Amino acid sequence: MNLIFLGAPGVGKGTQAKMFSSQLYWPHISTGDILREAVRQATPLGLEVKHYMEGGELIPDQLVINIVKERLEASDTFKGFILDGFPRTVEQAEALEEFLSSKKRPLDAVLYFEASTEEIVTRLTGRRSCRSCGAIYHVVYQPPLNQDRCDKCGGWLYQRSDDQEETVRHRLKVYEAQTTPLISFYEEKGLLRKVQAAGSVEGVHSLVKKILGLA
Ligand code: AMP
Repeated sequence: MNLIFLGAPGVGKGTQAKMFSSQLYWPHISTGDILREAVRQATPLGLEVKHYMEGGELIPDQLVINIVKERLEASDTFKGFILDGFPRTVEQAEALEEFLSSKKRPLDAVLYFEASTEEIVTRLTGRRSCRSCGAIYHVVYQPPLNQDRCDKCGGWLYQRSDDQEETVRHRLKVYEAQTTPLISFYEEKGLLRKVQAAGSVEGVHSLVKKILGLA
């Protein structure tokens, strides 16, 4: 299946995408992860996007469109993929549509993860990520067994600089202004499936399975 996981930052779509990707072997393509890795390695791309990311701003459309197109040319995506954090603007969605239709690889569904703003702020400010494998934890809802260490690989856990409360609130405003128009964009195409994302990780996972007909 060719899928998009759409929703506000911190709504839990990355966690779900990782779970589905490891169960079904569809690559999980997170533009945020790709960009963070570029920043960490201080590549030319990383140096160009660092200040946008730290301020909670979107990076320019053309940069991220090129990254995704290149990734979707890789053969491991031919059997299916999960896009997480892309598209985030109507321009990105239109570029993706044009690319996929030129390759005759249409989208199967766009899952829209919904939760209240306060729930999202709580989730994001308590989120911790593994520096080595990218696994995601939450200090209250999903704490690691050993504080500061990843259960899966033993790597160090850290708080993303853009998960501080002030930046989180700014990211949510950017999301409202730039990304919410995609809800009607995909609704009009008959692709949108709504997911109530407020429950537990396992509860949301079952819900998504049911929606995709995989239960
Ligand atoms: P995320 O991990 O998806 O919350 O993304 C972290 C940051 O990466 C965002 O706040 C943006 O600065 C940047 N970013 C990720 N995906 C995109 C995108 N599709 N368009 C523009 N900027 C993006």
